[in-house]
Amino acid sequence: MDCLFCKIAKGEIPSKKVYEDDEVLAFYDIEPKAPTHILIIPKLHIKSAAEITAKNSAVTAHIFEIAAKLADELKLKDGFRIVTNCGDSAGQSVKHLHFHLLGGRDFTWPPG
Ligand code: AMP
Ligand code: ZN
Repeated sequence: MDCLFCKIAKGEIPSKKVYEDDEVLAFYDIEPKAPTHILIIPKLHIKSAAEITAKNSAVTAHIFEIAAKLADELKLKDGFRIVTNCGDSAGQSVKHLHFHLLGGRDFTWPPG
């Protein structure tokens, strides 16, 4: 399957890793939208948040644990945002589930 994030998860395409275990990889976004911008992905291919089911949702819970740990380690104490874009109208450009962990600046609400 021709999936960029599957290739990054397998190490076939390099990334600047911040965390890795058997199920999850976190790495720096190549085009950061904030002073801290990390992507956290399941190593298993899940297309988007629309494909989270009772069978595969444990990894998403795990991703949120990793996000909290990274936010603490990276000292995002003023706040941070976790975003997942799902589908074309939300601007999902890579069709492998990923959570953006953004911090180091103020964010507007609602998002654009
Ligand atoms: P989205 O637009 O929500 O699907 O997010 C995809 C993200 O992947 C974007 O923020 C891109 O900047 C980022 N991205 C694309 N290619 C790479 C890469 N090779 N390494 C790290 N981040 C990437
Ligand atoms: Zn994939």
